[in-house]
Amino acid sequence: EVRTRIAPSPTGDPHVGTAYIALFNMAFARKMGGKFILRIEDTDQTRSTPESEKMILDALRWLGLDWAEGPDVGGEYGPYRQSERGDIYGQYALDLINKGHAFYAFETTEELDQMRIDQKEQGLPQKYDGRALSLTQEEVQAKLDAGVPYVIRMKIPEEGTCVVQDMLRGTIEIDWTQVDMQVLLKADGMPTYHLANVVDDHLMKITHVIRGEEWINSAPKHILLYQYFGWDMPTLCHMPLLRNPDKSKLSKRKNPTSILYYQRMGYMSEAVINYLGRMGWSMPDEREKFSLDEMIEHFDIQRVSLGGPVFDVEKLSWLNGMWIRENLTPETFAQKYVEWALNPEYLMKILPLVIPRVETFSDVADVAGFFLKGMLPITKEDFASVKMEEETLRKGMQFALWRLEALNKWEKDNIFNEMKALAQTLGIKPKDFFAPLFVAISGTTASVSVFDSMAILGSDISRARMRTAVN
Ligand code: ATP
Ligand code: GLU
Repeated sequence: EVRTRIAPSPTGDPHVGTAYIALFNMAFARKMGGKFILRIEDTDQTRSTPESEKMILDALRWLGLDWAEGPDVGGEYGPYRQSERGDIYGQYALDLINKGHAFYAFETTEELDQMRIDQKEQGLPQKYDGRALSLTQEEVQAKLDAGVPYVIRMKIPEEGTCVVQDMLRGTIEIDWTQVDMQVLLKADGMPTYHLANVVDDHLMKITHVIRGEEWINSAPKHILLYQYFGWDMPTLCHMPLLRNPDKSKLSKRKNPTSILYYQRMGYMSEAVINYLGRMGWSMPDEREKFSLDEMIEHFDIQRVSLGGPVFDVEKLSWLNGMWIRENLTPETFAQKYVEWALNPEYLMKILPLVIPRVETFSDVADVAGFFLKGMLPITKEDFASVKMEEETLRKGMQFALWRLEALNKWEKDNIFNEMKALAQTLGIKPKDFFAPLFVAISGTTASVSVFDSMAILGSDISRARMRTAVN
């Protein structure tokens, strides 16, 4: 039985790239009469959050994707959250030590930094030089007994090439000299991605690993791990990454990448999934508009083309317009529009800000209209009341964008503190610095709290409005 999986790390907003890879995994499994499963890769405890996990699951469901097994639906190979899989990874790492395929390494961070500096000076590739391999068994035991912190690393052949077979790319050869002696188990006892991913793909009986091409360079390590364990290797398939219209890798600095953005902008989930299905893939009859079921029915992974698919928001909007006109009646449009604009969850966030400022219901649109809009038609005149040189304004907005991109929790207090700190750094009074933010986000300096508004609108819409306001 074919079994595929999506294995997101819950470290931020749900990414369109995750949905795209999930879609191809699901289409492939369904077409082959197999199962598509979802596993949460949250071994990076400092960056993973339950909020992010929930947003990712909700977003994938909204798009119409669904999995036969996962942390929310269970299944016979669970738990499906790596943080709940106990010490299995540690045991597998020890198993590799006992078989002579892995070793203890005791270097401190300072030693490793120095090693890289020395390698750089000598023009050598920067990777672990294998120094712990020369420790005798007694020396290793003495260090372990003394409680010296350690990691477990995998051994890598000193010469030769690794041959990777890829469903779409055929044979790829990578020299072993380019492959690092990967850490498998970290000093805190947690596994790295590589160990946990291989162990779980094996235990969860995954037959086909379909993932982004950013992982091709990890394939040699994974192939070697399967050999070391003596396990059958799943078939690998590396999908082309989504690109910005300028062909660079799709990134949140240039384009909205969060599925929450597309929800809040009022796209239909059917259109978004249709558009993702056209990323590097086409229907046999080349039709542009198709449903998820139609895609599954006609799916053939060999129709994926490797030229980088461009995720172009304007094309998505065009397709969405078609979906609206061809698939909605005034009645179903009304129903969907009410769900989108007036759903209680969204309203309950907005109304506490609005109520103090209205006398009649008819005032609401004026006060809260910007919560129901996409990009705002802002011109230079809208900034007329802002006491700031154009150049300072532009720079301030750019700095603000950089800071907000790096923010790991999109919450009102965090946004406020970040913007206040930036104003101080720039030597501008916070009040003066916030005024253009008000304009960019709401269209006017006289709106409800800009930080509450940004928190409610979300990171991608807020940043997109800031980007377009000064351009
Ligand atoms: P950004 O550059 O926007 O910050 P990122 O690579 O840092 O993107 P992550 O949060 O690390 O984004 O990625 C989340 C998920 O989205 C990962 O599973 C990653 O593989 C996937 N992903 C990120 N960028 C792309 C892309 N251009 N195409 C396909 N998948 C992507
Ligand atoms: N957790 C990895 C990610 O976030 C999974 C990569 C893989 O599919 O192997 O992309």
